[in-house]
Amino acid sequence: MCRGVAFDLTTSNSNSQSVDHKLNDLIRQMTLDEKIAQLIQLAVPFYEGAGGEGQITGPMDSLGITQDTVRNSGSVLGMAGAQDVIDMQRTHLSHNRLGIPLLMMADIVHGFKTIFPVPLAIGCSWDMELAEKSAEIAAREAAVSGVHVTYAPMVDLVRDPRWGRVVESTGEDPYLNAKFAKAFVRGFQGQDLSGDYDRVAACVKHFAAYGAAEAGRDYNTVDLSDRQLREFYLPAYKAALDEGCEMVMTSFNTVDGIPATGNQKLMRKLLREEWGFDGVLISDWGAVKELIAHGIAADESEAAYKAIRAGVDIEMMTACYVHHLAELVERKEVDGSLIDEAVLRILQLKQKLGLFDNPYRAADPEREREIVFSDAHREAARELAVKSCVLLKNEGVLPFSRDRKIALIGPFASNHDVLGPWSWTGSKDAAITLAEGLSSKLGDQAKLVIAEGCGIETATEAQLQEALAAASEAETIVLALGEHTDMNGEAACRADIRLPQVQLELLRELRALNKPIVVVLFNGRPLDLHGVFEKADAILEAWYPGSEAGNAVAELLLGDANPSGRLTMSFPYSVGQVPVYYNAFNTGRPQGAPDAQVRYVSQYLDIPNEPLLPFGFGLSYSEFEYSEVSLSSPVMTKEAPIKLTVKVRNKGIVAGVETVQLYVRDMSGEVVRPVKELKAFRQVALQPGESTEIEFILREEQLRYYHSDLSHESDAGEFIAFVGPNSSTNTRLPFRLEK
Ligand code: BGC
Repeated sequence: MCRGVAFDLTTSNSNSQSVDHKLNDLIRQMTLDEKIAQLIQLAVPFYEGAGGEGQITGPMDSLGITQDTVRNSGSVLGMAGAQDVIDMQRTHLSHNRLGIPLLMMADIVHGFKTIFPVPLAIGCSWDMELAEKSAEIAAREAAVSGVHVTYAPMVDLVRDPRWGRVVESTGEDPYLNAKFAKAFVRGFQGQDLSGDYDRVAACVKHFAAYGAAEAGRDYNTVDLSDRQLREFYLPAYKAALDEGCEMVMTSFNTVDGIPATGNQKLMRKLLREEWGFDGVLISDWGAVKELIAHGIAADESEAAYKAIRAGVDIEMMTACYVHHLAELVERKEVDGSLIDEAVLRILQLKQKLGLFDNPYRAADPEREREIVFSDAHREAARELAVKSCVLLKNEGVLPFSRDRKIALIGPFASNHDVLGPWSWTGSKDAAITLAEGLSSKLGDQAKLVIAEGCGIETATEAQLQEALAAASEAETIVLALGEHTDMNGEAACRADIRLPQVQLELLRELRALNKPIVVVLFNGRPLDLHGVFEKADAILEAWYPGSEAGNAVAELLLGDANPSGRLTMSFPYSVGQVPVYYNAFNTGRPQGAPDAQVRYVSQYLDIPNEPLLPFGFGLSYSEFEYSEVSLSSPVMTKEAPIKLTVKVRNKGIVAGVETVQLYVRDMSGEVVRPVKELKAFRQVALQPGESTEIEFILREEQLRYYHSDLSHESDAGEFIAFVGPNSSTNTRLPFRLEK
């Protein structure tokens, strides 16, 4: 029991009603200032005890807050490290009149010390079990290091690769994003947060539609119809909440003219009333005060007023609540019950996490040393990294045999920058580079020469000459190119999404040697591959694979593993096409092509309409053949689903995994329907020569969508089912829905 709590809040002898009763008693003992202090969240430097310093180091003046506020605050941002957390919690409790423990929150996005591939890469695995396992391991490592809540999963649907944060999402498809959202929440939270201290509470973000920022510029305006919002952008947040996700974070952007953080329609009406979310809602960093810069609040007081009324419980990193809520309550502009409700939700979460029983929860320096970055965890990271890489092109050069002479060239040949954004808890130095991975696999037979060739954005003549010399000795060139981590993530948008010029130049010089070139890409967004696609004989998209990067990529290059990743975001033909995504609408005009010599059709005069590589695309060292596609009936009713059957055979000479994808098109909806929508998929592992029959059951519910009056229903009429290896498949099976 914590010091000062006048009643028993332990989990063992309580049901939720009696717990709420006790928490409400606790709230009655709190002064208004103590309550409001629960609603502020500051970063670590503001706290006493952090790092064992025993004093406040934060620039409190910058926020104009007092030590009392810090001592009574409810949660802290960015805390990790078992001993530090224990020290800080102890100091906090020694000052806190009612002994209310702090919640420790941090961005544990794709791993803690063991870093998994970035979320966009995990998306490309289409593997929910491994995604869940990655979150479970991240939770275990984070929990033992003292973290209680992670600001993850980020489930924003993304269509514009200029936006730096596409790397944090699983892609452009609402169905797939929703499945990943659930898998991540299950992995982070497990079945029982109260009983399982190796889990952390999840905070789904950024609510809502942050990924639709205009022109791919971070924080920019989002203006969508309610239908667009519900059909594409909201399903993944809802899925996370259906899975029991404890917290929600607001987004920075406007939604229909009102910033999410002050948006009553979005937060109070939709999230709380319609969806029934009764967990903690936190603002994004500084987003309450940003209501002023957006221009919907005249000052901090109005910002606080709008945010609390919208339903925001915790204000992250600004102090509008602390400065103004008390006077707003006194002036009766804000009902005190709004504050009590917010405090109750925060205390409920503390209670659920068991912090009143044990404020240190799983934090344990000894166990931390034992389990973080363990061999078993790294093995899981390697496995997921292998499954996340996508083979984009292969003109018969991959895999290459171990006795080939290889020149490994490029700014990512020996680069440890392979963890990607949000990996601050991991160790770059401990990440396996491609050079390390390849040398350890090739062992004694190593016929590997390594040269950098150029930096990521700069080059010298000496680097180039060294690379040309290395390449001239070799039979195959492996060219490791990419973007450095800081070119991705928050506030890292790019208008030109090609590789930096020096890298394109290096490839051009090497191409002149007339040797097979395998390009391996380390980056965080779909790139414009002009200058790469036509010049490389093979391209492996590795993304940022995490701690085990080099080992995973080396396995794939050498054929110890067979690539099975499939893109979850389209690769544009050129940046001028973006946003380009597979589940788009048809126009009323035919689709043109640059050379079609016809006018007044939907086309560009200079580039095709289609992306370079579509959603769902990815090659394998095996070749899969689809045949015997059939539907059990040409007519579906509510009561009688139909069955789609397809035979898939591995025609290749190595075992491989195929991701069989099922899409549907509604031919005449009440509103325009996407040309294809992913409805189901199946991953099958097949030995050479092996075939299997796959069955999909298609039901009326899967054909429902939001109508113009926002009702969610299906239309009787004609549909087409498509099945195949990616979203460009043209294997079509028409059917009818009768009602
Ligand atoms: C980001 C969030 C993150 C938060 C806390 C913000 O700037 O948008 O994704 O969780 O900072 O670090």
